[in-house]
Formats: sequence, structure tokens, C-alpha cells
Amino acid sequence: MSDVVSRPYYCWPTTRDTLTPQNVALVDLNDTLIDGLCCRPWTFLPGVVEATRLLVRTCGWRMAIVTQQPPAYWGEGHDSTDALAWVVSIRRALAEQADLLPADIYINFCSHDPMSGCRCHKPEPGLLREAMEDAGGKLDQVWMIGDKWSDVMAGHNAGIKTCAVGDFGYVQKGTTPLPEGLKPPHLWVPDFATAVRIITSEVLV
Ligand SMILES: [Mg+2]
Ligand SMILES: [Zn+2]
Repeated sequence: MSDVVSRPYYCWPTTRDTLTPQNVALVDLNDTLIDGLCCRPWTFLPGVVEATRLLVRTCGWRMAIVTQQPPAYWGEGHDSTDALAWVVSIRRALAEQADLLPADIYINFCSHDPMSGCRCHKPEPGLLREAMEDAGGKLDQVWMIGDKWSDVMAGHNAGIKTCAVGDFGYVQKGTTPLPEGLKPPHLWVPDFATAVRIITSEVLV
């Protein structure tokens, strides 16, 4: 049997955006990609660099870091400019180590105080919607990956697929009461590397 015949056969609809299907991963930063707090030393979590290379370079997904670093996180003597510079420096290190260009990894960033009523603070979907505008992708081709219930709910609120990693953050630590109507994630895995292996092995239909 020839190689062509043995592959799954797809009949694409003829609209322009479905001729070039684009998968997108929106990824939380703290406790999903890295260990460490804003404007302080940090390290990548195990397997993150290799998984990013697989996701973006091998599988051709777009990836956006969607992160909020509100004033309470910045640490003594730092401002929102430092917070953004800190995220940018992590993106640069991730790109370098994963054999990518920095521009291959999008950043969508909120530094607002959540009490200011900003619409981009997860679980609000504003930051995710902004990221989807930047990176493209239809709703059913976009995943939100994060370690907290607020990441998962932001994904649900944006109408995309959701993946929780690790211990689901606040549930285990009990630092924030769970909201009414919390919906479980579509997928719940130990870490980002496992998430990438699973979502990239899906067959597009
Ligand atoms: Mg997090
Ligand atoms: Zn905001």
C-alpha cells in the first residue's frame, strides 16, 4: 500500500481558514512552565523546554504565554515594567533552549490589580481572547493549559478546550474558595510535557 493511501483522508471544507488549520496552545506561566515568582529567580519545570520544542517546532502549533502578574506579585521595589521584562526574559530563554525564535512564542500579559475590574484577569476570558486574536486558530483548535482553576475557567469562558496540569493549584492548597459552577477541565495531566504529548497526538477531523 502506498504511503499516501495509508494515511487518514481528510476532505477539507473550502473556506479559507479551514484550508490552513492552525492549532494554538495558550499556556499559563507560573507553576505550569516555571517555578518562581515575579521579578525573582526562576527555573523551568521538568520537560518544559523539550515539550515546547515538540509543540511549536515539530508539530507547528502556535504557543502563547498568557499570564497575569498583578501588583501583589511583583516583589519589593518592582513595577509593571519589571514584571513584563521578567516574562519577556523567560520567553527569550525558552525560545533559545527550544531552538525557536522569541517571536515564535507569543506573550499576552496582564499587570492590572484584579480589584480594578480588568477583563483580562483569569478566570475572565479577555486575555485568552486577545491571545487568540494574535495567534489565530478556531475555537475548537485552541487549548488553554494551566495549573489553577482560574486557568481552566478562563478557558471555559473563552469557549476553548481546557487542560489542567499538576495538582490543580488552589484546590489542593485551599488558598482560594472554589467558585460556584466550577467546571472540570477537558483533560487533567501531571505536567505540561504530558499535556503536549496528548494534545499533539489528536487527529484533526
Ligand atoms: Mg499558574
Ligand atoms: Zn488585566
